[in-house]
Amino acid sequence: MSAAALLDGCAAELARPAADTQRPVLRERGQREVFCGLTGIIWLHRKMQDAFFLVVGSRTCAHLLQSAAGVMIFAEPRFATAIMEERDLAGMVDAQDELDRVVNRLLERRPDIKTLFLVGSCPSEVIKLDLAKAAQRLGAVHMPRVRILNYSGSGIETTFTQGEDACLAALVPVMPALPADAPAELLIVGSLPDIVEDQFLRLFADLGIAKVGCLPARNARDLPAVGPNTRYLLAQPFLGDTAMALEGRGAKRIEALFPFGVEGTSDWLRAAAAAFNVDPALTEQVLAPGRERARIALTKLRPQLEGKRITFLPDSQLEVPLARYLQDELGMELVEVGTPYLHRAHLARELESFGPNVRLSEGQHVERQLDRVRADRPDITVCGLGLANPLEGEGLTTKWAIELVFSPIHGFDQAADLAELFARPLRRRDMLEI
Ligand code: SF4
Repeated sequence: MSAAALLDGCAAELARPAADTQRPVLRERGQREVFCGLTGIIWLHRKMQDAFFLVVGSRTCAHLLQSAAGVMIFAEPRFATAIMEERDLAGMVDAQDELDRVVNRLLERRPDIKTLFLVGSCPSEVIKLDLAKAAQRLGAVHMPRVRILNYSGSGIETTFTQGEDACLAALVPVMPALPADAPAELLIVGSLPDIVEDQFLRLFADLGIAKVGCLPARNARDLPAVGPNTRYLLAQPFLGDTAMALEGRGAKRIEALFPFGVEGTSDWLRAAAAAFNVDPALTEQVLAPGRERARIALTKLRPQLEGKRITFLPDSQLEVPLARYLQDELGMELVEVGTPYLHRAHLARELESFGPNVRLSEGQHVERQLDRVRADRPDITVCGLGLANPLEGEGLTTKWAIELVFSPIHGFDQAADLAELFARPLRRRDMLEI
């Protein structure tokens, strides 16, 4: 029996109300069509400039990374795959010894590496290669020059953004401790393009919030401190494990909408300002120019999106906050919002604005979901790369979900770019129809 068929057997939990909201959630358990967590390395290696990601995997894993990240032959890449050969998989050699050899050779050749992530894959997990043990053993040899950590990027997890969650969660235990008597500090959690992070840091400085850290930091060795006086703000909705690890170290989450669009960004900044007792009048003064710029930019795009029906197939875990933004600020009609995993606590505020007719689904069963898309025929479907072409072939307009992860979409100054990502395929469709 195939893995997909085994999973099909479990696909029976339908329309059970979410524990906290009573909103019915269609729970799907079946075949998945998503990238694995290794994909996160593509944006994480650009963000953490002194880190190296060594995937312990197969040739398939190497091909995925090389084709997605486009390695240049003469560049010194900051990721690689230690390829497990058949004799490793068959247990004919000690894979831990082989890994030690690869890591020692790599660190000898690359003195610029300050943090090394050993990244698990499906093959390494199938043979139960203990990368935590390897990271500990190799760390003892190479510290303090290099810190060695591990996490899983395997496709056995729910979807590709879990790779970032696992990576950041691995960093939390090595963050320095914020002393109990230190003044409160703000921590932004989630990888953002530098340009967006800088915009937010300027706004927090204007609000008078003195100490703001970012996880991940641009240099993985410059990790911000964490402790009971840390108030953290999630920038991404897929960081459940990281949030749990931070709370394990005493940090407290600031509840807010995610910073997409004018209202999401305003709510996110206002929530942080309130947590740091910033005068509400000053908060509004700081937010006003960005809100106005974004509002004007969105006015031009709203007529192209208003009234258009949209379905999200489960893919990036960005679906719920993006759907809220498209509905509330651009007047789109939500048909189905599917997400691989619905973090009820982190998404509770986002879900409040969904109307009663929005179909919310969690988990994946690709055949059933495609059947619903065919029956609904939304104006646009946000889905994975593998599903986009077949749907386009059936005359449906699509948007690649992964593009939303690779594009700067957070904050006031990106609100219109985010809307444009949805407006463009609709314009293209209209032009083709003429
Ligand atoms: S980790 Fe698994 S799903 Fe990802 S490329 Fe490797 S084998 Fe494929």
